[in-house]
Amino acid sequence: MRMMDCRDVLANLSCYVNGDGSAELRKTLEEHIAHCRPCRVVFDTTGKTLRIVLDVEPFEVPLAVSARLYARLERVLAEETPVP
Ligand SMILES: [Zn+2]
Repeated sequence: MRMMDCRDVLANLSCYVNGDGSAELRKTLEEHIAHCRPCRVVFDTTGKTLRIVLDVEPFEVPLAVSARLYARLERVLAEETPVP
């Protein structure tokens, strides 16, 4: 299985938080997050927020939340990764 990059993780994060996705997908996500600090930061903070949102609206992941996820990741990555 190919390596997941940070955007793949975020693209699947709502599935993961929602309890969807294959066991393999979930395992791959967990392994990436365990070794990737930016994703762990996003997951720890926004994952909890998403979980709360999903409890209220179980059938819809608000687009605004996804957009904020990406914005946050971009910012974390920009801080973590030196610009070449
Ligand atoms: Zn990552």
